[in-house]
This record gives sequence, structure tokens and C-alpha cells, in this order.
Amino acid sequence: MHAPTTGPLSGWEVRGDLACLLCSRAVASAQGPRDRKFVPTQVKVRNPEHTQAVREMRCPYCTGRLWLQDTEEIYVDRRPLTAEELRPRRGRPPKKRPEQDLAAAS
Ligand SMILES: [Zn+2]
Repeated sequence: MHAPTTGPLSGWEVRGDLACLLCSRAVASAQGPRDRKFVPTQVKVRNPEHTQAVREMRCPYCTGRLWLQDTEEIYVDRRPLTAEELRPRRGRPPKKRPEQDLAAAS
């Protein structure tokens, strides 16, 4: 089994709503890498019954064409945490125990 090619793990992506050009209903949200041609890698359909229509980029209500609107650019970081990041931070002071303080004072 081959792992799907996902491209860069982190970078700028475009996110927006897929809305109908005719009735302006937003039926899904889409997200994909910021590129000359927008190819969504994630599409969230609001109503599961509309999945097929959204796949064909047409409106489930009036069969108008869906269009990406209200786009925003977001930075996505999909890198897995490195061992260094998973390790507890160095330099964190150990928990103080009152009895140790007393022993040090005497
Ligand atoms: Zn429509």
C-alpha cells in the first residue's frame, strides 16, 4: 500500500465556502494548498446528502455552479512533533517539597 502524496507538510492553504453562484447558498467548505489552480484537499459538506452534488461542483438546490467564496489564507502545520518537542522541556524547576526546604535550612 502506497502512502498518498500529500505534498508539503506545512504551508499556506486557502480555505473558503463552496457556495452557489445562482442562489448563493453555501453547501460546503473547502480547503487546499494555495496554488494557481485551487484544488481542494479537504471538503466538508454540510449536509451529507449533498456530497455527490458538491463533488460535481453543482448546487444541490438549483443545480447552479458552486464557487469558492469568502476565502481566507491559513497557515497549516502538519509536521508530526519531533522527539525533541515531545520531551518535557528542560530547565523546568522540579516540584518543591516542603520537607526538602526544611532539611536544607537545618
Ligand atoms: Zn443554488
